[in-house]
Amino acid sequence: MDKKNRKRRTCVVQAGLGEPVSYRAVMPPLCLSSTFQMDEVGKKAAYEYSRTRNPTRDHLAQALAEIEKGYGACVTSSGMAALTLIVHLLNPEDLLIAPYDCYGRSYRMLSALAEKKHFRLKFVDQYSEKGIVDAFSETPQMVLIESPSNPVMRIADIRAIAEKAKACGAITVVDNTFLSPMLQQPLSLGADIVYHSTTKFLNGHSDVVGGCVVMKTKELWEHLDFWANSLGLIGAPFDSYLTLRGLRTLELRVHRAQENAMAIAAMLATHDKVAKVYYPGLPTHEGHAIAVAQQEGFGAMLSLELKGDYETARAFVSGLSLFRLAQSLGGTESLINHPASMTHVSMGPEARAKAGVTDQLLRLSIGVEHIEDLLEDLREALAGI
Ligand SMILES: *Cc1c(COP(=O)(O)O)cnc(C)c1O
Repeated sequence: MDKKNRKRRTCVVQAGLGEPVSYRAVMPPLCLSSTFQMDEVGKKAAYEYSRTRNPTRDHLAQALAEIEKGYGACVTSSGMAALTLIVHLLNPEDLLIAPYDCYGRSYRMLSALAEKKHFRLKFVDQYSEKGIVDAFSETPQMVLIESPSNPVMRIADIRAIAEKAKACGAITVVDNTFLSPMLQQPLSLGADIVYHSTTKFLNGHSDVVGGCVVMKTKELWEHLDFWANSLGLIGAPFDSYLTLRGLRTLELRVHRAQENAMAIAAMLATHDKVAKVYYPGLPTHEGHAIAVAQQEGFGAMLSLELKGDYETARAFVSGLSLFRLAQSLGGTESLINHPASMTHVSMGPEARAKAGVTDQLLRLSIGVEHIEDLLEDLREALAGI
C-alpha cells in the first residue's frame, strides 16, 4: 500500500513501527543518545549528533508531516519555539501581518521582535471581508492565521486569506493548535506552513511542553530545518517519545472530546444564567458557515459568558469539581480558564475589551470524561451562582 494513501488515523498509529529493523521491536525504542558512532573518517552517517538529527524525534516529525500532509516537519521544544523558528524566514524589511487577537504570548513575542527590528509587523482583523482587504493594503511577506481564535473562537477564512497571500507572494502560516490535524488541514486549504503547540491536543495528556512546524515544500523544510539545528530549537527525545505515544490515540481523543463539547455547548446555550456561548458548532456562532466549509469538526474548545460580573465567574469556578482551573488545553481531562485573570491578563483592559474578553467570560477545554458527569458538574455550578 502506498504510504501517501494512508488515512490520518493509520499514519499516527503506524509511524516508526518496526524501526530500527535490527531489533524487530514493534514499538520504536526511545533513543536518548546525544551522539552516534561513525563508520570511518570522511563518511557521512544518517545520525551523527542529536541536535541535528535524532531517531525518536524523527519518528514524531515523520508522523506529524504525514498527518498534516506536508513535505517534512521540525519538532521544537515548545509552541513558542515553533513560532520563533518560523519568523526566522523573515528579513528586517519584511512585513508580517498577524491577527490582533492571536495567542497572548505570540502577540508579545512578535511585538518585542518587531521592536528590535527583526521584521515589520502589523496586527490586523482577518474575520471580515473588509478586514482582509484592509489587512492587505500593504504587501506582506508573511501572513499568520489562528483559527479558531482564543478565547472567543472567531473563524478566519483560511482559503480566502491564503489565496490573497499567494497572489502577492507571501507565505501563509497557520497555528492549528486548537483543532489538531484531525479537524483542520491548513496545507490543503492553501497554507504553506502549519504549526502547533504539541503541548495541547497532539500530545494530549498534559505532561509535555512541545511544538512542531510542518512545511508544504522541500525548500521550506530545508530552510527551517537549517534554522532549527542552528538555533537549537529542537524538541528533546524523551518529550518526542511521549508525544508520539499520545499521538497514537489522537483521533479517538479528539472525536470523543468534540462530541462532549457539542452536548455541553447545546446545554449552555439554553441555560438562563448564561449570556453567550462561543462554539463554532452552534449555528448561531458568527463563524459557523466558514467553520463548516473548512473544518472537519468543531473541536473541543468553547467559551461561555455568564450573566453577571467578575464575582459571578469566581463563584461559578468555585462550584465546579470536575473542571479544574488551569492554563493549557487539549488534555484528556476537562479544564476551565478565566482569560481576564489568566491567559489574557497582560493584554490590559482595552485590548481585552476589543478581543471580547470580559470579566465573566470562561474558556472550557473539554476532556474525554463521561458526558453526563460533565453536564452535571456544570449544571451544579450554575445552580450555585
Ligand atoms: C499554547 C499555545 C501556544 C504556545 O505553545 P507552548 O507549547 O505553550 O509554547 C501557541 N498557540 C496556541 C493557540 C496555544 O494554545
